[in-house]
Amino acid sequence: MIELNLYLTPEKIKLELDKYIIGQSETKKILSVSVYNHYKRLYLINKKKYILDKSNILFIGPTGSGKTLMVKTLAKIINVPIIIVDATSFTEAGYVGEDVETIIQKLLHECDYNVELAEKSIIYIDEIDKISKKNDFFSGKDVSGEGVQQSLLKLIEGVNINITPINEKKINQQQIIFNINTNNILFIVGGAFSGIENFINNRINKELSFIKKINKNVNLINYTNNEDLINFGIIPEFLGRLPIVAIFKELNIYELIHILIKPKNSLLKQFCYLFIIEGVNIKFSFESIKEIARIAVKKKIGARGLKSILENILLNTMYIFPSKKEIKFIIIHKEVIISNKKPIFLYN
Ligand code: ADP
Repeated sequence: MIELNLYLTPEKIKLELDKYIIGQSETKKILSVSVYNHYKRLYLINKKKYILDKSNILFIGPTGSGKTLMVKTLAKIINVPIIIVDATSFTEAGYVGEDVETIIQKLLHECDYNVELAEKSIIYIDEIDKISKKNDFFSGKDVSGEGVQQSLLKLIEGVNINITPINEKKINQQQIIFNINTNNILFIVGGAFSGIENFINNRINKELSFIKKINKNVNLINYTNNEDLINFGIIPEFLGRLPIVAIFKELNIYELIHILIKPKNSLLKQFCYLFIIEGVNIKFSFESIKEIARIAVKKKIGARGLKSILENILLNTMYIFPSKKEIKFIIIHKEVIISNKKPIFLYN
């Protein structure tokens, strides 16, 4: 039975997302409203009041901008199961590779074979841009991106599927089969769509007059429309099932600094715990944090790269300090980051 949780308004969902996700304000707003409406739709259908069309969501944004984190956090807030799958691992039925039905099999397994729970969950399909019509020769796989989109399309739209359990549960030698309807599952698909800027640029420049060409400094991805997505290789029928589009911005240096220090379980806090647990205090100067963020911006890896940058920077320190019990305080200054100098060690 689906309850309408009027307490969890779009504003409250966004406020919760704000605790864990830095920036992406507009995206959070879009997601909060669409998720609230999605569950309102399920409630109305359940009450047999109104039939509303489903609105699945498309995330567009560079790697490491928080797309996966956003769906994971959302699932926690609204307390529904979620599975994250990679579009590139799926093929049309009949080809070698995972069938799209395995998505539902995984989901059902995740929900401990509770069909009702699975039917109101969230499925995030990542790397959707990698199954575009034209791009499949990059992957080297013998699959047509278009065919996979066709199969996903049916799943997203809503189908009844018979699923056998992952570990083939049998009772009295009888194969158990679960029937699951995907109509009420919220599908979110996402991808970086790198290169789509070329299509946007061409379209906008065609639309604008010859004199008024587009300013080179604008972030073209914000102007993405269906025509660009179709030119990129997403088939129109598939796009038609994704009426809500949320565009993630590339994180800037200040947002990356925030990501390092602000969230409840921020990366810097996590590294600090590794030291505190052995009675050692570690402090990062603001300048050093800024340099770490600057490296991530330069490498164009968004927040995804912050952890490996920190691992790299702290490798020597983490190698030395556990055997030097007299070290009580470690200060990471700017030079540690930019010229590989030693941190300042203070002893008791
Ligand atoms: P994407 O799916 O866009 O490639 P992810 O959501 O997987 O990126 O981000 C990778 C990691 O980077 C996350 O687990 C999180 O630690 C961090 N991160 C990314 N974006 C944000 C953000 N906007 N706010 C806080 N942390 C972020």
